[in-house]
Amino acid sequence: MRRRTDSTPSRKFDQNADVAIANGKIAAVQPNIAASSAAETLDAAGKLVVPGLIDIHTHAGREKEDGALCLADGVTSLVDAGSAGADGIDAVVAVAKAAPNRMRVFINIGRKGIIPEGDLMDLANVDVAAARAAIERHRDVVVGIKARLSKNVAGGNDVEALKRAQSVARPLGIPIMIHMGQTASPLPDLLAVLKPGDIVTHLYAPPPNGIFDGSGKLLPAVADARKRGIWFDFGNGRIDHFTWAIVEHAIQERVLPDTISTDWGQAARTDQVFNFGTVLSKFLAVGMPLDSVVACATSNAAKTVPAFKGLGTLAVGATADVAILDLQQGSFEFEDNYKGKRAGKLKLAAAGTIFGGKRV
Ligand SMILES: [Zn+2]
Repeated sequence: MRRRTDSTPSRKFDQNADVAIANGKIAAVQPNIAASSAAETLDAAGKLVVPGLIDIHTHAGREKEDGALCLADGVTSLVDAGSAGADGIDAVVAVAKAAPNRMRVFINIGRKGIIPEGDLMDLANVDVAAARAAIERHRDVVVGIKARLSKNVAGGNDVEALKRAQSVARPLGIPIMIHMGQTASPLPDLLAVLKPGDIVTHLYAPPPNGIFDGSGKLLPAVADARKRGIWFDFGNGRIDHFTWAIVEHAIQERVLPDTISTDWGQAARTDQVFNFGTVLSKFLAVGMPLDSVVACATSNAAKTVPAFKGLGTLAVGATADVAILDLQQGSFEFEDNYKGKRAGKLKLAAAGTIFGGKRV
């Protein structure tokens, strides 16, 4: 197969070239690969050819068609982050296993999963033995733990629930993803419980307990956590996760996300999030360079989830997961979680996906 390519941040490669794929792997990336030897060619002239997108924070394990919807957006690997706890994990794992892309699951440390009264409000639901048993039953699919720690989810139990989650995660060597913002405890108290490789999602959450102090300075504990190898993820979502003012301040202060994710669920398909391309375009609108934005959804994302090691690149020999993106020019409007709007002139839209060497 033969492709016309443009942009792959992991290799600092950004030019017009062809991509050859053989046996599900990237076989070559270079200009002018002879088409005569290819069984099939796909002309992506004028498009961006990037590694298959990796969305590390979704809720795509809820409905059986969710994986396919994400795949159409160019997402070849994704995580359902905490939709289910130990009690409901079998159903989400079944959706993940049946998905047409690589769906993995972070189990909610609250055994009942996301519940209206708050996942961790009752510490009896933060059941270490149940979580451990569920992970052991599904080691191939459940590759991390999610702890949603906002006050309306955890009350005053945030630190205790996180310690319990860590007591499960550490011996298994798997990451925890915490959902920060509007927590009862100060953010530094939560960061203190995290180990290198853990992930903080919703990094631009409004106060109380965001990443900036009252005068807009980055908390030293956040800078320290990043130095320690803790990742900071965007997590668009729909409710209370970001304002344009905080994103713009952060960009100005050069506090960029390690990864950009959607926090996608079906309700988000028609509200604020829409699809991965739209979420990535929000960062183009605030001036983040295209290659950095793509890295946040490919090479960086692959680094944060051990189960995705080796993905997020078009290096020769890598799994042939490829997203073909159209960088549209025009006038676009992007929304934060508080109906704030920003205009942008560029929008990334999926124009094709290749998963494991197969066109989908
Ligand atoms: Zn979420």
